[in-house]
This record gives sequence, C-alpha cells and structure tokens, in this order.
Amino acid sequence: MLDKTNHHMTSAEFREAGREVVDWIADYYDWIEKYPVVPDIEPGDIRKNLPAHPPEKGESFDAMMQDVDQIIMPGITHWQSPNFFAYFPSNTTFPSILGEMISAGLGVQGMVWKTSPACTELETHMMDWMVELLGLPPRFLSSGKGGGVIQDTASSAVLCAMLAARERVTARQSNKTGTPSNLVAYTSTQAHSSVQKAARIAGIGDDRIRLIDVDATFAMNPTALEKAIQEDRLAGLVPFFVSATVGTTSSMAMDDIYSISKVLDDSIWLHVDAAMAGSAAVCPEFRGMHDGVEMADSYCFNPHKWLFTNFDCNCFFVADREALINALSILPEYLRTPEHAAGAIDYRDWQVPLGRRFRALKLWFVVRHYGSKGLQTHVRQHIELAKEFESWVSKSNQFQLVTRRSLNTVCFAHRKGNDATERILQKVNATGKLFASHTKLGDQYTIRMVIGGHNTKHRHVLAAWDHFCSMAEEVVPQ
Ligand SMILES: *Cc1c(COP(=O)(O)O)cnc(C)c1O
Repeated sequence: MLDKTNHHMTSAEFREAGREVVDWIADYYDWIEKYPVVPDIEPGDIRKNLPAHPPEKGESFDAMMQDVDQIIMPGITHWQSPNFFAYFPSNTTFPSILGEMISAGLGVQGMVWKTSPACTELETHMMDWMVELLGLPPRFLSSGKGGGVIQDTASSAVLCAMLAARERVTARQSNKTGTPSNLVAYTSTQAHSSVQKAARIAGIGDDRIRLIDVDATFAMNPTALEKAIQEDRLAGLVPFFVSATVGTTSSMAMDDIYSISKVLDDSIWLHVDAAMAGSAAVCPEFRGMHDGVEMADSYCFNPHKWLFTNFDCNCFFVADREALINALSILPEYLRTPEHAAGAIDYRDWQVPLGRRFRALKLWFVVRHYGSKGLQTHVRQHIELAKEFESWVSKSNQFQLVTRRSLNTVCFAHRKGNDATERILQKVNATGKLFASHTKLGDQYTIRMVIGGHNTKHRHVLAAWDHFCSMAEEVVPQ
C-alpha cells in the first residue's frame, strides 16, 4: 500500500536520483567546452519559461532534471569553463563537490561546538593547516592568542575585522570619544568595494572612509596614508582601521604591507585582504607578497577563488581572537553550554550570522586530494601561462600591456585606445568562445586576462590570444 501521507523521497529513490546527478555533473565537465561561456539571452528570458505558480502536487525527479537541461542550462554562465578568464575565477573541483555533498547530507549547524563538535574542530584544524600551507605567521594559529574561521566571503571578513577594530578602539577610549561618528577607516582607491560597504554597515559612514592614492603600480602609497592619518588626527578624528590589499581585484596590484604597517601605531587595526592572490602563497616563491603580514591584525583569502574549493569559503585569521569575540559575542541563555564555559570554540562568536554550514569538509577534501604539491603545481601552471600570455602581448603590434603582469593577471589594451579596446572585448565575448572582463586603470579601458580555471590548459590560452588578435583585425583594420 502506498502511504499517501508520506511525500518524502525514499533512500532508494535518493540513491537512484543521486547517481543520476553525479553522472550529470561528470557529463557537464566532459562537455563543458561545447557551451558558449556566456549565454546569449536577454533579461527575463529564463523566467518566462518558468510556471507562474508553485505546483500543488509533487513532481517527478525526471521532470526536474528535464527543466534543468531545458530552462536552466541555457541561462548559465560557465564559470568552470576552461575559457573563462573574466573577473576572478570561482573554482570548484570534484573533491570539493564531494565534500560539499557530504556537508549537505549531514545537514549540521555548526554554530557552537556542542551543535556539532567535528564541524568546529575540523574547521579549527583546517585553519591551522592553512597557516602552514601559505606560510602565514604563527600569530594566526589557534594554539596562541589568534586563530582562523571560515567566513562565507571576503566581504564578511572585512566587515568582521572592522567591527572588531571598532570595538577595540572604543573600549580603549575611557572618555568614549571614539564613537563611530569620529572613527576613520582607510583603504586605497583600488581596494575592493566590500571595504566601503563594511564601513557603511559598521556605521562608520561614507564620509569617514578615506581612499588613499596609489603609485604607478596601483599599490597604496604609504606616505599618502601617513599624511591622511595625521590630518584626521589634527582634525580631532580617530583613525582606527586600514585595509591593505594583496592582489587588487582590478589589476592584481600588491600593496606593500610592510611599509603600510610602518606608518601605523597599534591603535590602528591593519587588515589584509588577499582574497584572490593569497592562494599563490602555497608556493614559497610567491610569499614575498605577504612580507609584513606578521604585523597585521587580520588577514583573509578565498579558497573559493583560486584554491579549487567551491563557493563559499573564505579563510579569515585574526592575531587576537578576543578582539573579534568581544565585538560579536552575545550569549543568550538558550545557547549557554558547559563546553563554552570551559573554553571550547563557538564559531557563532566569530561571524555575523548565528548558523553556519560545515564548510571545512570540502576544504579538507581538497587539501587531502591534491596535497601541497598538487596545489602548487596548478597555481604555478596558471602563473606560467599568464607569463606566456604577457610575452605575446608585449611582442604584439596590435596590443600593449597597461601595467606589468602580476601573478596570473595580465592587463592589456589595444594600441589605438579605449574605443577600439572596448569594441574588441565586446566582439570577443559575443562569440561565446571565451569570456574576459574589463577594468579602468587611470582612464585607460583595460582588458583583464585572468588565468586560474582548474581546467584551463595552454591550448585554451593560446586560442584566446588568437581570438583577440583576429577580432582586433576585424574591428580595427591595419
Ligand atoms: C573577490 C574579492 C573580494 C570579494 O570577495 P567575496 O568573497 O565575494 O566577498 C574582496 N577583495 C578582493 C581583493 C577580491 O578580489
């Protein structure tokens, strides 16, 4: 007899559908190059194929998969395509997907140690592994006063850093002059927009964040930072937070953390945002970009960009976890546990939301699958490919470099200027053969070629270059 009140999928049905989904994902990767990287559709095209109302009766799994193929796939931008060179990559890999599946399968909430001890302890352990893998300073290890936590994104990390900094500076000021209305934060004109957003959310405000000038390499000018801090102090304001960027989103420019730290005293919190570039530190030869990070109060990078771990996964480290916990901990009776009292880590005190997913699992799978050697090999390959692309640009009589290559990012433009460059990029992207995005450096319209997809090989980069050259010939005849 069919139980008409039980609508749940049975484990037998799940087994079958689950295998089908795994096959579907594997097929997707086998055939990913046949899709145009960016779909050629208009806003609204996807929704118009969806039913206006939710179904009253449950539908079959087959019907859902059919719609995935027919309605959803035509509206997908293929971030995992080896021909995706836009923005920054958002890699996923099979080991990561498998870790994610187990996390979804377990469905635990890791808000406090007690609500799933393994979720907390594996996370603490992974964060310590990351310190070792990237050669980060020991002050970020959980064995000392600091420690790491997985946030959803770099945006959340900079917000938490700013909240901790705000708490620290206001607590220090016995006369309480350090109210948010006179606190000032600093970052460079090239920093990610999330720093400004954090200043809004933290109540600092748009008029209390200073965007410091950059030098010819688009790195923050420490002298200009020092001057801005002095001027604000003279005006009776309280400088409390600086966010330096290792690898800017626009051009992968590197702020000099060491020189920046030298113009700060310890009343100012130094955060380092290495969202994209940080992963390169798995290779010892690229760790120079982190010089001075031993002076930072906090640091973050995104394994969900270049460390082959699917979104979302941001590793956020603080040198003094008390500062962070003081800012974010509120302990209601229903979450009181003896383990908390005994000092167990409750990660809800390290982030904005209460609930949290078991993200450490996918990171653990990735690190164990590749090992440090495997991770190094892939990062090095990307950087070698970017070097080669840079050499083609510098030898070209159509294109030129806009700034020097940094890690895996090449910024280039057509020699005829902004208009030509913009038209070439639009034409290239419209073919669907690859996807690259743009930025403005100074007032120069610039194409960014970012090579970091886990599937991207030499032949893809070469084909992309050929494509840029032939489109340039069409758009700007010699
Ligand atoms: C991508 C990026 C961010 C934002 O990343 P999210 O994790 O999506 O918030 C912040 N800073 C830099 C330098 C980035 O490249």
